[in-house]
Order: sequence, then C-alpha cells, then structure tokens
Amino acid sequence: MAVAELPRTVVPNSSFRKQVDAQSGETIAACYQCEKCTNGCPLAFAMDIVPHKLMRSVHLGLKDEVLSSDTIWVCASCETCTTRCPNGIDIAHVMDSLRQISQSEGIKASQAQVPIFHRAFLASVKRFGRVHEGEMAAVYALRTGGLKRLMGMGGMGLDMFKKGQIKILPNRPNKQVRDIFRAAERKGQ
Ligand code: SF4
Ligand code: SF4
Repeated sequence: MAVAELPRTVVPNSSFRKQVDAQSGETIAACYQCEKCTNGCPLAFAMDIVPHKLMRSVHLGLKDEVLSSDTIWVCASCETCTTRCPNGIDIAHVMDSLRQISQSEGIKASQAQVPIFHRAFLASVKRFGRVHEGEMAAVYALRTGGLKRLMGMGGMGLDMFKKGQIKILPNRPNKQVRDIFRAAERKGQ
C-alpha cells in the first residue's frame, strides 16, 4: 500500500514578515487569505506559488521558498491584485520588495533573465531620461546571449525601425531623472 505524503510542519517565524513589512510599508498580517489576488492575477498559471499562497508563506516566515520562487520574477507588476485586495494590501509592491530583498541578499534569481532586463531598462532610463528601446534591447541581448543573440535580433530591430517603432537616437540626458536615481541610490534602493 502506498504511503500517503504527510503535510509539512512549519514553525512560524515572524522575522521575514517584519523584514517585508519594513521594506514594502505594507502589513502582511492583514491578509486573510480570500484569494481575490490570485483569482485576478493574469500570470498565476505560470507561478510556482500563487499570490495568496505567497502572502501566507511570507507570513509564516518561509524566506528561502519565497525568495527562490519563480513567482517574484514572473510577476509583471500589473497591479490587478493590488486593486482587488479587500484589505488594501499593495501586493504588487510586496512583490517588488521581495525582488529587492532577493537581489540585496545575493540570491540567484530563478528566472535569471528578468533582473538583467530590469537593470538594462533602468540603466537606459537613467542615461536618457526615458527608455531607448534599441539601446536597452542591445544591452539585454548581449548580456543574455552575447553577440550571437544580438545579431539574431538585428532583423527585428530593422523592421521596428522601418515602422517607426524605435528611434535611432536616444533622448538627451535628463538631469531631473538622474537626480531621482541618485537620491534612490543614496537611500540604498
Ligand atoms: S502584480 Fe503580479 S501578482 Fe499581482 S496580479 Fe499582476 S502579475 Fe499577478
Ligand atoms: S486579496 Fe488581499 S486579503 Fe485576499 S488573499 Fe490576496 S493579499 Fe490576502
């Protein structure tokens, strides 16, 4: 007879929840597991821990499981969950905070290309005041697949340029945007 798998015993630990509360400014303990966030999430199908379970995992202190999950990198920050939460928890911001904690603690992202994309996007905004799609795509391609990937994307880039979807020249650098980045860097964000 097959032996039934026993449910895992978890000893709750509040230190991770407090860390996430402090980073996000949200109150994870307010979540009462109604599942409205998960039911509205367009990417729940691709997540290994769906949003309401992720909130519960944070509450229980399952730090390793949460920070190594696909979920925090699959989340598209669309904020549907945030608008649906009856307790006013900004779940999208919690996801953002989990990504920040994960990166600041040197945890390898389960979806390695996502933080590379985020960095390429932000570096372009910092340089030019708004993203320059061509430059960002080139940096992202080089960092994820080297010259081969960059060359492979050349045709698509040319088509987009012909249709006026990307510009050759970026915007001029914007001092106000740079100042925002500098202020955030001083705060360690
Ligand atoms: S912000 Fe993330 S978790 Fe929330 S609904 Fe959108 S994809 Fe899902
Ligand atoms: S919608 Fe809000 S209260 Fe409901 S499970 Fe999600 S986070 Fe918790």
